[in-house]
Amino acid sequence: MADTFDAYLITRNEDTKEQGGSWTTVSADDLPEGDVTLRVRHTTMNYKDALAITGKSPVVRRFPMVPGIDIAGEVTASSSPDFAVGDEVIMNGWGVGEVHWGGYAQYARMKSDWLLKKPDGLTGAECMAIGTAGYTAALCVLRLQQAGVTPDSGTVLVTGASGGVGSFAISLLASLGYTVAASTGRTDEEPYLKSLGATEIVDRNTLSEKGRPLDKELYAGAVDSVGSTTLANVLSKMKYDGTVAACGLAQGFDLPATVMPFILRGVTLAGVDSVMAPKARREAAWNLLDQHLDRAKLAEITTEGDIRKVAEIAPDLIAGKVRGRLVFAVD
Ligand code: NDP
Repeated sequence: MADTFDAYLITRNEDTKEQGGSWTTVSADDLPEGDVTLRVRHTTMNYKDALAITGKSPVVRRFPMVPGIDIAGEVTASSSPDFAVGDEVIMNGWGVGEVHWGGYAQYARMKSDWLLKKPDGLTGAECMAIGTAGYTAALCVLRLQQAGVTPDSGTVLVTGASGGVGSFAISLLASLGYTVAASTGRTDEEPYLKSLGATEIVDRNTLSEKGRPLDKELYAGAVDSVGSTTLANVLSKMKYDGTVAACGLAQGFDLPATVMPFILRGVTLAGVDSVMAPKARREAAWNLLDQHLDRAKLAEITTEGDIRKVAEIAPDLIAGKVRGRLVFAVD
């Protein structure tokens, strides 16, 4: 690799604690430790990346930092027996872009344990369009499958439906043959949610206020990216032996629930974390995406952005002005 390369560097003034960021030429010697070096080919912008760039939330825990929690690239050097020069790889999470330099750069250096071989049926750009949102949705679907929720068990509810995790969850579940109900606050998105495979739209307001400890048994499974009162209400509407895969906190991180669904209906609340998930689980999630994600629908929701403009894009993403998935090619 070259002696120097371009990276978007987030810096902080230690006196004023003010954060800044710009494209900077950095030395190859500045790359963090790791046994595999990559030429980054594609990355994306998640909500977390936008928070890191704007400094609106303390995502970055070490400065200077290169953001970018999702990476698709090509191995340029490796001392790991698992990866050879030229291998195409992907990486999601592991604190990259938070405590370890991430994907908004021409090069990255990683621990080989964090890397997966790119699935054969997906391009690097498609993997980034899927990103952490899609991979987390796949982890949720796997949890439901492992808990024995099948298409015959009944309807699966997806909350935060028009968000990243929600959209991928609907698409995956529908292509696996599940009947999907989509809970959303954006009822004008009904055509979009139905095009992804939802057959029923639920107004999220019916879930966001405190409800009964046990309600009508409606759902065999649920993917919840909303948390708080919504999750409590979802639990109360689960059928006997139902399972809820909980991964998010869009409404809040509290959980004002009772134990009634657990002790009277055998309901399972299954937590899903994407950041530290072990390799075998990641491989299973990406395999599920490779096998079952509708590529045409993926293309429809993907837009290519200019990575040199991430500082301008990040506030728009936080303000909800960016629809679908944004992919950056790293030149
Ligand atoms: P998005 O912002 O794309 O989507 C979140 C969706 O939640 C929104 O589109 C909206 O859906 C709904 N929503 C937002 N605010 C509220 C509210 N106050 N009450 C009810 N619903 C609300 O985020 P992602 O899909 O990328 O992520 C979803 C959640 O999952 C986030 O909390 C994120 O932090 C978390 N996450 C967790 C991961 C993990 O490893 N556990 C990995 C990735 C994400 P609609 O407009 O349809 O109502």
